[in-house]
Amino acid sequence: MRLGNLLPFGQDIESGEFVDVGSVPNGDKCGCICPSCKTFLTARQGEKNEWHFAHKVNKSHNSTKVPCDFSFYVSVRMMIRQISETGLDLKIPLLNVPSQNYDETKKILLPVNLPVVSREHIHLQNVRVGEKFSGVLVDVVASVQCVPFVIFVSYKDRLVPIELFDPKESKAGVIEFDAKALREAFQKTKNGQYLEALKSFLMNEVEGKRWIYHPRYKEVEQKAFIQSEDAKKQKNLP
Ligand SMILES: [Zn+2]
Repeated sequence: MRLGNLLPFGQDIESGEFVDVGSVPNGDKCGCICPSCKTFLTARQGEKNEWHFAHKVNKSHNSTKVPCDFSFYVSVRMMIRQISETGLDLKIPLLNVPSQNYDETKKILLPVNLPVVSREHIHLQNVRVGEKFSGVLVDVVASVQCVPFVIFVSYKDRLVPIELFDPKESKAGVIEFDAKALREAFQKTKNGQYLEALKSFLMNEVEGKRWIYHPRYKEVEQKAFIQSEDAKKQKNLP
């Protein structure tokens, strides 16, 4: 799917739920609006192109409305919020701090990594969406083993706010998810099954995810520094 005005998800007018283009009737009967600009959508379940929603053009008046450039991203962001609410399994990137050890037999310094995050799969519980954290609006606030865990969905013109890099609540984890990372996965998705594709991507891939803040990072960084300095001292001993 090309980015831009092509939409994987629409908002069902009756239920208010976000749905993928694979789970609605084709054409104008889809019953959905754009999650970003609220224009009526039409489902394009064609033979040739990837299935997508398109904005319905109102031919009866000349619309001068600005094009809905970020509808792809807004729809993805809203869908992530929706699927998080029932509890979400997430693959997260490992996080290490580089340090070094002294090898006494070879008389050299060897690089080592001190782990901050060594578990790749987490389960989000007690999920709230669209709440403020550290004074800024985030997409998902959950708890992982009783520690707050935050997801911020980013894209062009929606960058991670500075407040999340050093949050007021210091015992919390913050992850960025760059919605652009979904582009390839969605291109490979058949018959508009973007909801399953999104769930599977969040559960099995780390692409697009980045640690913004981890409560143990500074402590491990300090440990890595001391270990590295000790190793250098040992190497320089006569
Ligand atoms: Zn729109």
